[in-house]
Amino acid sequence: MTPGLYVVATPLGNLQDLSPRAREVLQSVAVIAAEDTRHSQILCRQWDIRTPLVSVHDHNEQDRVDGLLARLRAGEAVALISDAGTPLISDPGYRLVRATRLAGLPVYAVAGPSAALAALSVAGIPCDRFAFEGFPPAQAAARRAYFNSLASESRTLVFYESPHRLAASLADLSVAFGGQREATLVRELTKRFEEGVFSTLAELAARANAQAPRGEYVLVVRGAPPPAETDEGERVLALLIDTLPLRQAVDLAVSITGVPKKALYARALAMRRP
Ligand code: SAM
Repeated sequence: MTPGLYVVATPLGNLQDLSPRAREVLQSVAVIAAEDTRHSQILCRQWDIRTPLVSVHDHNEQDRVDGLLARLRAGEAVALISDAGTPLISDPGYRLVRATRLAGLPVYAVAGPSAALAALSVAGIPCDRFAFEGFPPAQAAARRAYFNSLASESRTLVFYESPHRLAASLADLSVAFGGQREATLVRELTKRFEEGVFSTLAELAARANAQAPRGEYVLVVRGAPPPAETDEGERVLALLIDTLPLRQAVDLAVSITGVPKKALYARALAMRRP
């Protein structure tokens, strides 16, 4: 087999999603660098892949790089996989791929599933332009600041989130982006309990709050409305600001128009200034 590092995408849950080429590569390389060798053994058993596995995860990747690079330099073929989907996409492998490139050795993509693209393909939200954001910060204050910084982003946004932080993230997003922003929450892609809910951030936050989320989730959020809609937000705000307290006027204008709160709050402060 041609020597080099093969970055191999593996199924998101449905083992039938391993491509024939991915199987052949995994059967033929000298070694498979896997995020969790025990987890990957399930895939290997299913597809009769008997290649030795070595673990490469966030805590040992730097140490493993030298050994794997030595094998690549010696002319071996090495595969890199993660627990699910495409390695490096919110998964380990960046250091190994970079080191292999810096050494001038070939890196081949054995393309396949990734939860972000699978979610976009079923979301029903414009995806001609999008920004993949991975996991939002876990800590509440950092997460809110981060969502505020994204409120005016006009591209569709894709987030990964763990089930136990999902309700908090949706609540924070609803405040930062306005509850009326369109979003699709997909769960357990390609698995038995796969489902998707196309709604608004406010509605998704309420649902996540009412029933304990379980499984794996991707959230796809429509980008901020174009400036013409921001003008509409300002027009509504101007009508409300003289009769309501500032915060209430902003919240109402955000709910009515879907314009990001950050933008309208700044406008409200300017309108109130003597
Ligand atoms: N490298 C992977 C990829 O290409 O998508 C992502 C790995 S990241 C550590 C794991 C996150 O991906 C999960 O927390 C979830 O947000 C998302 N994910 C992975 N598999 C999924 C699935 N079957 N359904 C929904 N989301 C999934």
